[in-house]
Formats: sequence, C-alpha cells, structure tokens
Amino acid sequence: MNTVESKPNVKFKLVSILSNAEISPNVFLLSFKRDFTFRAGQVLGVALLPTDDARLYSIASGGNDENIDILYNIKPGGKLTPNLATLKAGDAFWITVPFGSYAGSDEPAYWIAAGTGIAPFVSMYRSGMGDNKILIHGSRTLDAFYFSESLLPDFGSRYVRCCSQQEGEGIYHGRVTQYLEELEDLPEDQKYYLCGGAEMVVECRDILLSKGIPFSNVVAEIYF
Ligand SMILES: Cc1cc2nc3c(=O)[nH]c(=O)nc-3n(C[C@H](O)[C@H](O)[C@H](O)COP(=O)(O)OP(=O)(O)OC[C@H]3O[C@@H](n4cnc5c(N)ncnc54)[C@H](O)[C@@H]3O)c2cc1C
Repeated sequence: MNTVESKPNVKFKLVSILSNAEISPNVFLLSFKRDFTFRAGQVLGVALLPTDDARLYSIASGGNDENIDILYNIKPGGKLTPNLATLKAGDAFWITVPFGSYAGSDEPAYWIAAGTGIAPFVSMYRSGMGDNKILIHGSRTLDAFYFSESLLPDFGSRYVRCCSQQEGEGIYHGRVTQYLEELEDLPEDQKYYLCGGAEMVVECRDILLSKGIPFSNVVAEIYF
C-alpha cells in the first residue's frame, strides 16, 4: 500500500482516477478503484499533494461496489476543487482512510439533502438501505438532481425533488425548507438525516424541532 504521513496522524494514499466526469455544470463525479472497506455515510479526505490540507468528501458508492464515487462541485477560488476538476483518467491524487460516524441504518427514516449533500444517501441506498426511506432532495436547478435516473424508479413517490429556481413535471417548486414546513404529522419516532450546507441543515433542523421531532432524532452532516 502506498501511504505517506504528511501531517501528524494523517496518512495519505495515492489513487489513480478511473473517471472524472462533469455530470452537470460545475459538478463532477470522480471514480477510482476501491481497495478498502467503509460504512455508508462515511467521508474521506482528498488532496492533490500529501502536504496539502485534505478536503472532506462523502463516499457516494455502495459498501460492496467495485469503485469509489465522489460527487463534488467546483468552488470558484477554492484550493482543491478547481484543480481537481482538471484531472483525467490515469491521473493520481491522495486520499485518507474513510472515517466518520454519519452512518445509515435499516430503520425507517427521512433522508433530507441539498445539492451534493445527496452523496451519503446515495451510498446508503446503494448499500441496500433505501426501501423504507423517504428521500427529499433540494436544488436550485432541474439539472442538479444527481442520480435521479436510478433513484426515481426505486423510490417512486418516496423521492421528492424540490427545485427553488425552476419548475418541472413531478418536481416541487420551492426550497426543501418550504416543503418541510408544509408537511403534516411527521413521525416523531423516526430519524431525520440531514446533509448539505450549514444554512440548509440548521433551517431544516429548526423546522423539524418546531414540528415536535425530538432533537435526538435529527442527525446532521454539515458540508463546510
Ligand atoms: C463532512 C464533510 C463532507 C463533505 N462532503 C462533500 C461532498 O461529498 N461533496 C462536496 O462537493 N463537498 C463536500 N464537502 C465540502 C468540501 O470538503 C470542501 O469544503 C469543498 O469542496 C471546497 O473545497 P475547495 O478546496 O475547492 O475550496 P476552499 O479552498 O475550501 O474554499 C471554499 C470557498 O471559500 C472561498 N475562500 C477560501 N478562502 C477564503 C478566504 N480567506 N476568504 C474568503 N473566501 C475564501 C473560496 O473562494 C471558495 O469559494 C464536505 C465537507 C464536510 C465537512
């Protein structure tokens, strides 16, 4: 195994890209071969050099998938993502081991995501946990419902797409938060998994709490 220790307690491993495709404007799906185990919902660190500070990314693959998929968007002026997006198949980059306690379960639950925050739920779904879940995904534009081609047939009406800036058939027109506000009789004994930017996560959490969901049933992963 090709590992280096660049910073205290951070071990990086070099991996080779299988593909790095732009699946929507400025949004990429990066794939490389899996040679480790992980739990659905976990993240790994990514860097272009082992001396860089790693950025964290949710794994979007199922636990037994052959490849690791990472869904990311380019942050203009960012240290990693504009450069990461230029890499091609065969190029190499550095990853940490997977880690994190944001884990899915087989219990019924709500999965609520914004933007690339859909990634851990895709991992959980691809790991066989999707059957009793309600998946709510928010985005600004209709082209940002990543993985909808596989999610739609499997989830059917349990898959809700909320689009704030464009209207489309079968799509709720408005933000995820607006959709949540309108929901009635949310079960209090289920978990509500949230994933996305800080603002979305905090707003969704507050709406759930105002609807009587116990704090302990809100499980959040914030992308910052
Ligand atoms: C647990 C976790 C999981 C995550 N999973 C994902 C995921 O699956 N997919 C995903 O896309 N992202 C994910 N993220 C976010 C990801 O880790 C990075 O933060 C993101 O990709 C930005 O990386 P970057 O190096 O390109 O940008 P950064 O260099 O971190 O910059 C981010 C933004 O801040 C601006 N900026 C930087 N420095 C300054 C400054 N000094 N003053 C003002 N502005 C500044 C930049 O211009 C840029 O727009 C996750 C984050 C966490 C914490």
